[in-house]
Amino acid sequence: MFETHLKEAAAAYGLPLSEEQIAQFNRYYELLVDWNTRMNLTAIMEPKDVAVKHIIDSLSAYDPALFPAGTTLIDVGTGAGFPGLPLKIFAPEIRLTLVDSLAKRVHFLETVTEELGLKGVRCLHGRAEDLARDKKHRERYDVACARAVARLSVLAEYLMPFVRVGGTLLALKGRSYQEETTEAEKALKILGGGHVEIRPVKLPGLDDARAILTVRKEKPTPKAYPRKAGTPAKKPLI
Ligand code: SAM
Repeated sequence: MFETHLKEAAAAYGLPLSEEQIAQFNRYYELLVDWNTRMNLTAIMEPKDVAVKHIIDSLSAYDPALFPAGTTLIDVGTGAGFPGLPLKIFAPEIRLTLVDSLAKRVHFLETVTEELGLKGVRCLHGRAEDLARDKKHRERYDVACARAVARLSVLAEYLMPFVRVGGTLLALKGRSYQEETTEAEKALKILGGGHVEIRPVKLPGLDDARAILTVRKEKPTPKAYPRKAGTPAKKPLI
C-alpha cells in the first residue's frame, strides 16, 4: 500500500527510486507507524500522505549540484528524520548528521539507521545553539538543512554556524517563504550568508505553495552566534 503510493508519487515527481530504496523507505514507514503508537513522531500517518508530504517533500530538497559524493549534511531539528533520512536513502554517499533536542526521537533515528543498514549516519541529541558552539561541529558542514523548525530569521541562527564558508544553508519552507525571506535578510547578513535563492516546489496532488531556499555562506559567522539556547527564538535577529 505505502509502496504503491511512494512509487506513484516518485514517478509523478520524476525521481528514479531503485527496488532497494523502495524497500528501505517501506521499512522506514513501518518503523514510523510502529513507534508512533508509543511516542509523538508525526501527525501524518496515512500511507499516501507519508509518501508525498514526508518522503517526496524531503526529496524535493535534493539537488545534484549541492550533494556530490561525500557531502557532509547536518539536519537540525530532524524529528522523525525529515528531510535528512530520505535524502540519505536517495543519495547514500552523503555523510549525514541528524540533530534533535528530544532524546526519544534520537533513539528512533538510531533504530531506523541500524534497521535500514545505513552507513555514514550519526544521530546527535542536543540543541542547535549548543552544538554549533562545539568545535567538532562549528563551520564543519557543506550543507545545513531543516524543515518545520523555525522561521527563517531564527533558523538562520541555528543553521549558519554549522556551515563552512562556501557551503550552503538549505531550508524547506511552506507558503510563507517570500515573507520569511524578506524578514531574514538582516539575520542572514549578520551570520555570514549571501543572497537567498528560491526554488518553488510543487508536490504531486497538492496545491499548497512550497519552496526550497538556499543561501551560500560567504563569511565566517561571528563568535557571538548562535546566542544561548532559547534566545534566537525569543529575540530573532530582525
Ligand atoms: N524536521 C522534522 C519534520 O519536518 O518533520 C521535524 C519537525 S518538528 C515540528 C521540530 C523538531 O525540531 C522537533 O523534533 C524538536 O524537538 C526539534 N527542535 C526544535 N528546536 C530545536 C533546537 N533548537 N535544536 C535542536 N532541535 C530542535
